[in-house]
Amino acid sequence: MRILANDGIDLMGKKLLEDAGFEVDTTHIPQDQLAEKLQNYDAITVRSATKVRQALIDACPNIKAIGRGGVGMDNIDVEYARSKGIAVINTPAASSLSVAELVFAHLLSGVRFLYDSNRKMPVEGNTNFAGLKKAYAKGVELKGKTLGVIGFGRIGRETAKVALGMGMDVIYTDLFEGPTTLPLIFSGGIEVDLPVKQVSFEEVLKQADFLSLHVPFLDKPVIGKEEFALLKDGVGLVNASRGGVIDEQELIAALDSGKVSFAALDVFDNEPTPREEILKHPKISLTPHIGAATDEAQGRIGVELALLLIDALKK
Ligand code: NAD
Repeated sequence: MRILANDGIDLMGKKLLEDAGFEVDTTHIPQDQLAEKLQNYDAITVRSATKVRQALIDACPNIKAIGRGGVGMDNIDVEYARSKGIAVINTPAASSLSVAELVFAHLLSGVRFLYDSNRKMPVEGNTNFAGLKKAYAKGVELKGKTLGVIGFGRIGRETAKVALGMGMDVIYTDLFEGPTTLPLIFSGGIEVDLPVKQVSFEEVLKQADFLSLHVPFLDKPVIGKEEFALLKDGVGLVNASRGGVIDEQELIAALDSGKVSFAALDVFDNEPTPREEILKHPKISLTPHIGAATDEAQGRIGVELALLLIDALKK
């Protein structure tokens, strides 16, 4: 059987598939040629770039499994594929810690203005950085501050654990009842349970010093004009979930008015071409959707995907 890993697959995952007798092709076939070329394969794996829509599924009746390396399956017509008897698989847990660590890279960057000083130091600081030093002298510590987490699933909880490890208080909101403590495991196997508090959506907005979003995108933004109005003045906000979860136009207004002191975005409306107002905003820390893009997460994703595909294709 032949598997097309159209958005790549980690070497360990590829080896597991080959050892199980599959041929793995890591050539990237452009989207507009897939309907023709995918006919020669039995399965396809994708990340977020390749789209597997109904028309492609119809054009390739040989396909028995679709694997998504990662969580969100918004690039796959999942229900349609399943209705045709195709196994659709993803690897939801493999990247949670990497996304959580990226949230903190952004938060630490935000409270010490790294995103801005990295832009301005090479331009304005090459002769004398005294002016910049003054501009960036109003940093704050994260310890003792309250992190509000919206969506307390896999990534929300990992993010909360990093926050607890840094001495932050954690409040969260979710559609379902969640835990009152989270276990933190330190080196040497020392484990401590630290408290987290579930509150209403409105209370998270009102109480958080920093907000991090970890919900799926459904049909409308979770944070829009009304929600921005409820936030504490000067809050810092991170979105590493999905573009569209925050109303970008309202975010720009909230940054310009000072309601939000900084925002950090790993995900955008209209990926992979976010609007210029977002890309050039001086109070936004940017990454190009790389939450899961660490060696460790990609390794775990590859292995998990391979094992699930072997299981599905050998049935
Ligand atoms: P998950 O399913 O484990 O958790 C999502 C949680 O959000 C659930 O507990 C759910 O009950 C809750 N929820 C849904 N709607 C809500 C709402 N309106 N208010 C409050 N809670 C709500 O998902 P996860 O694995 O933690 O992933 C979270 C998000 O991160 C997803 O959007 C996913 O696509 C995204 N993600 C991004 C990257 C990246 O590279 N930046 C990588 C992986 C996942």
